[in-house]
Amino acid sequence: MPFSVLILGAGSATPTLNRHPSSQLLTYESDHFLIDCGEGTQFRLLDYKVRPGRLKGVFISHLHGDHYFGLIGLLSSLNLGGRTDDLLLFGPQGLDEVLTLQFKYSQTPLQFRIIFTQTNTTTSTLLYEHPCFTVFTIPLSHRIPCAGFLFQEKPHKRKLIKEKITDGIPFDYLRQLKNGEDIYDEGGNLLYSVAEYTLPAPPPRSYAYCSDTRYDEAIIPIIRGASLLYHEATFQNDLAHQASARFHATASEAATIAKKANVGKLLIGHFSSRYKEVDSFLTEAQAVFLNSHIAEEGTTFNILSVPSTDASLLPDT
Ligand SMILES: [Zn+2]
Ligand SMILES: [Zn+2]
Repeated sequence: MPFSVLILGAGSATPTLNRHPSSQLLTYESDHFLIDCGEGTQFRLLDYKVRPGRLKGVFISHLHGDHYFGLIGLLSSLNLGGRTDDLLLFGPQGLDEVLTLQFKYSQTPLQFRIIFTQTNTTTSTLLYEHPCFTVFTIPLSHRIPCAGFLFQEKPHKRKLIKEKITDGIPFDYLRQLKNGEDIYDEGGNLLYSVAEYTLPAPPPRSYAYCSDTRYDEAIIPIIRGASLLYHEATFQNDLAHQASARFHATASEAATIAKKANVGKLLIGHFSSRYKEVDSFLTEAQAVFLNSHIAEEGTTFNILSVPSTDASLLPDT
């Protein structure tokens, strides 16, 4: 099952010509979800040939403009495009009120329903259940209520070994074997064993999105072992004091969280506009956690069920 994230924007609040405000497109098989929707996100979707009409839902971390000012434009365009399917919307208290007011004064009757669920920004709670994954909030330490999102794939079933499967095995037995159940006859004799006919299921994959936040170890138990972590890195170490005072993190703090949470891979973004190039963010992060990467706009990162302990990738610091 394809499970990936496409970076649409990895800048922060002040506009720059070469980075866009926060937004990512999460894809699970053929289902698309937006995570944050900074200004102009709908144009990024056009750039990358993603049909906005196929979006099932939108997750908004918090109500700073660089994370949701693109939402009203996107929703209006969906309406103009004739959408009638429900749209799921997750975000902090007040988001529904803001949208209602904007639609009220633009006299825009929506032809589709927005099903709004308020996020819990103080405790990690189950927010959404998809047939293949669940989403939990990740309370973040920011100036206003803010929650990241943990997309946790549900456990897979075991895999049948094709060569072992003959036509004579009833379908129900195959289903039971995939569920990890041995098959016995009425006399209690083992007919088919899980160990002989199946292979273990691949470990479930997960994606943790954490923007915006200052360094906060409270998130570690929630994101521990995530296959892929996106953590904001607005500043570099030279401005660590400013980062904390402004409820943001540095690249090395993001990497420290990645290391302590033993994640598979780290993406960093939300770079301050004061930094013209981003290579130095990567250098700083990799000094702490080697498997760190820039959340490069336009890049799709596959979420892989790599063993989370890539110990060889962790320098001794
Ligand atoms: Zn921001
Ligand atoms: Zn913010």
